[in-house]
Amino acid sequence: NLTIGVLGLQGAVAEHIKQVEALGCNGLIVKRPEQLAFIDGLILPGGESTTMRKLIDRYGFFEPLIEFSNEKKPIFGTCAGMVLVANKLSESKEAHLGLMNVCVKRNAFGRQRDSFEAALEVKGIETPYSAVFIRAPYIESAGEEVEILAQYNGNIVAAKQGNILASAFHPELTADTRFLQLFIEMVKESAKTTAL
Ligand code: GLN
Repeated sequence: NLTIGVLGLQGAVAEHIKQVEALGCNGLIVKRPEQLAFIDGLILPGGESTTMRKLIDRYGFFEPLIEFSNEKKPIFGTCAGMVLVANKLSESKEAHLGLMNVCVKRNAFGRQRDSFEAALEVKGIETPYSAVFIRAPYIESAGEEVEILAQYNGNIVAAKQGNILASAFHPELTADTRFLQLFIEMVKESAKTTAL
């Protein structure tokens, strides 16, 4: 059985665990870098990216996370997690993990649109997917190797590059598990190849 970890330093952790388990995987709240050895894929949850980055450094997660990604293990960054995986941030000199060739703008939808729900066409999902956005970022620009999965008003809100998946929205806050299912498929594929 697959084990999906959720980085448990800050943010929307419990909701992700619930959904992962509803889809038949084991969920593990990852609070120490050593736990990365026991998971097949990792979710970086929504929350506050600056705070999460501080905690990543404080608990010695930075290098282990890069290594986890170098091993081609799937990582799914949602909302603040999308900010963490970007290799460029439009309003800051320093990026965080730099795992995806995208430039991300934080809090990109402005105050009036602090949080909202929108029906999105998502590549790989047949009928519109209702996505919840909370002080969400979006991808301003993406390299050619990045596969765009969804856009909202012309802005990229979901994308994939190799082992990295990112969404500006919060899939754990809706009953629709189809987006998480896309990640679980990536984890299944990667677990297959590492088992060979
Ligand atoms: N605005 C937050 C950030 O940039 C993300 C918000 C969220 O994860 N819901 O860290």
